[in-house]
Amino acid sequence: MLIAANWKMYKGPGETRAFLAGFEPPEGVGVVICPPFGSLETAVASGHAIYAQNVHWEDEGAFTGEVSTKILLELGVQGSIVGHSERRQYFGETDETAGKRARHALEAGLEVIACLGETEAEREAGETEDVVRRQLSALGPPHANLVIAYEPVWAIGTGKTATPAQAQEAHGLIKSLLDVPVLYGGSVKPDNAAELLSQGHVDGALVGGASLEVESFTAICQAAASL
Ligand code: PEP
Repeated sequence: MLIAANWKMYKGPGETRAFLAGFEPPEGVGVVICPPFGSLETAVASGHAIYAQNVHWEDEGAFTGEVSTKILLELGVQGSIVGHSERRQYFGETDETAGKRARHALEAGLEVIACLGETEAEREAGETEDVVRRQLSALGPPHANLVIAYEPVWAIGTGKTATPAQAQEAHGLIKSLLDVPVLYGGSVKPDNAAELLSQGHVDGALVGGASLEVESFTAICQAAASL
């Protein structure tokens, strides 16, 4: 079971240090923290497993605002999220660029959490399966360091959560196409974590809002550890 905290554009070095000094993950669950770029060095110094939120597909070059695998590895970062829906929605990320980021990061020795999931309009139009298949195929073959996060876009930061049955169904589809662990993401909170995580095809969670407070994130990690 893996629980990942996506801090998005929250927590500079000071808040990062304070959170991680007071955070003790329970035994029996893998935990990774994904702070913003400027807090990575501080986060790595805490000894917790740290991922970036994005990574480029070239080793270096004229790519203003991007970060390379080389830089992340030098910082001691262990992996990266790629293809998050907020990157797709606001920064022009496509299936193709998400796939390039994922493959390059894996080749460079980073672990990858690759995000995918349908929008509300796509779900209502009955396109969920097609969207998941298309986004997944852009990521290439399975890899020992690749994890998928199924994050229905309509459930991210909205307080709407996929039902356990919806998560189980989508994860089952993903696992039938690519044999890798699949995390669920979308308004995971302490009070719904155990039910979602107890689904057979749910291998963990990617947590946004509820990962920003030590108490709520610890409660989610404890729910995972108790399963
Ligand atoms: C996310 O950012 O990946 C996410 C799932 O956010 P939230 O938990 O706030 O919905």
